[in-house]
Amino acid sequence: QMASCIATPAALSTQLPTRAATAVRHLSDDIAYVLFPEQQIHARVQQLGRQLAHDYADRAPLVLGVLTGAFQVCGDLVRSMDPCPRGTTVNFVRASSYGSGTESSGKVAIKMDMDSKLIKGRHVVLVEDIVDTGMTLTRLKAHLTENCEAASVAIVALLDKRERRKVELEADYVGFQCPNEFVVGYGLDFDEEYRTLPYIGVLKPECYAHKL
Ligand code: 5GP
Repeated sequence: QMASCIATPAALSTQLPTRAATAVRHLSDDIAYVLFPEQQIHARVQQLGRQLAHDYADRAPLVLGVLTGAFQVCGDLVRSMDPCPRGTTVNFVRASSYGSGTESSGKVAIKMDMDSKLIKGRHVVLVEDIVDTGMTLTRLKAHLTENCEAASVAIVALLDKRERRKVELEADYVGFQCPNEFVVGYGLDFDEEYRTLPYIGVLKPECYAHKL
């Protein structure tokens, strides 16, 4: 009696709909091409983490991830900070400059997830997914230095779209130079989707055209 309840692999494969047989669309179907594969991202983030651990060996940093896009890179980066300086802490700040389109609105809203008094005197490492016009990080850096009195602020940017810069801003640590394309994946979204992809790719234009 019991045995008939246990599905064998052969039985399972006949029960599960195959991809071709269903109309379900997957996030990866919307990607025109992959710019940075998962392995390449991990290798580079690991290098950056080790570099940070070395550079901050004698001044424990406050690693501050910029939400929401940097949640992936921030997690991987701090795991790679080895050996990690004692006293290193991690927190997040929310900065939004994009609406639901692919162009910056130019305005940056900052929301701290921690008591900004705790930033005074700390060596802050700001972790951002991508620098585009440079406005978000310029505003954040000024806020942390002038209002919160951080001892220092360094910037880690996984991607750098240098040719799009509207204000002068140099990241201290850059993962990859990024071509002038709208990219998604590994934390980066379009309209809150695609953050879950393990790689970074370029969206097919038909996937955002109808939403702009
Ligand atoms: P910035 O203030 O430098 O113009 O913009 C930085 C923010 O814009 C990033 O944190 C990110 O949220 C968004 N952004 C810029 N370029 C891209 C892109 O190609 N793809 C995605 N998904 N977001 C981007």
